[in-house]
Amino acid sequence: MIIVMKAGTPQGMAANIVQELENQGLQPVPLYGVERTVIAVIGDERKLSVGHFEALPGVEKVMAVLQPYKLVSKETKSEPTIIEVNGIRIGSGQVAAIAGPCSVESEEQMDISARELSRMGIKILRAGAFKPRTGPYAFQGLGKRGLEILKESADRYDLATVTEILDIRDLDMVAQMTDILQVGARNMQNFELLKELGTIKKPVLLKRGLNATIEEFLLAAEYILAHGNPNVILCERGIRTFEKETRNTLALATVPLVKELSHLPIIVDPSHGTGKKSLIEPMTKAAIACGADGFIVEVHPKPEEALSDAQQQITPAQFEEMLENLKPILAAVNKTL
Ligand code: PEP
Ligand code: MN
Repeated sequence: MIIVMKAGTPQGMAANIVQELENQGLQPVPLYGVERTVIAVIGDERKLSVGHFEALPGVEKVMAVLQPYKLVSKETKSEPTIIEVNGIRIGSGQVAAIAGPCSVESEEQMDISARELSRMGIKILRAGAFKPRTGPYAFQGLGKRGLEILKESADRYDLATVTEILDIRDLDMVAQMTDILQVGARNMQNFELLKELGTIKKPVLLKRGLNATIEEFLLAAEYILAHGNPNVILCERGIRTFEKETRNTLALATVPLVKELSHLPIIVDPSHGTGKKSLIEPMTKAAIACGADGFIVEVHPKPEEALSDAQQQITPAQFEEMLENLKPILAAVNKTL
């Protein structure tokens, strides 16, 4: 259920309703919009007496949310959620460009990456310190030292960072050292991790699971919001299908569909989505054309020497050329980087 307050009612009135819901053993989640406040009610909704709440001052209506996810639903909040990171307003008319190597490998590799990307105007640097690898003998990431290198290189060039959190036990450390915490595709349904990420305020980049439906994807985001963190950025990174020519099948229809269903921003990862250098530019263009709020691309100073995902990383020069080639598409959809 959601309780929609009348436009322009003071926040104090919503606070009274929140208090009353709590007294009745329900879990209210107030969402303060620009125009009006909406209070989502979680818990056993049978306890909610609709008539009673509809009669309270400031309440416009009490209504059911039809989808299984409530807080991420557009029915609950119609205005888009905008998440600001290092001056980039993700979810606004601006397209967020996030780039960097798959993994943190060395100080030198990260320094070159950060320097080159900042020179191109990029504001958010990606790189994994904890890597979810299919096999246990593959490079697993530099761990804590990787986080330090990522932060040092980003600080040197005024970049914000995004990195994957693999293990709930690392939450404090990762949250302290990075600006956006990534939940990788393989952890999209790690519900305990999602719940913990609800207890922090830093933005979470939630990647779609390899075999997750869009409903499951949105329900995973719902976990984070339901536990208190409204700052979730969704990321379509391709799903596993019978197709073998591409690493995954980049399901771009997710973007406009999620825009119909949810107020959360959604970006696209054409690197993992295709696994092929040559497909990164065309799929980034397509992502922008279909309404994505941003893209995240793997860029490595020497892709052929990369310790992970070597086949899909592009050089800074290739990335720079791609940024140039995106301009007509950005202009066509009336957006900027
Ligand atoms: C990554 O971003 O490097 C990564 C491992 O992504 P995904 O979880 O989408 O495979
Ligand atoms: Mn990767």
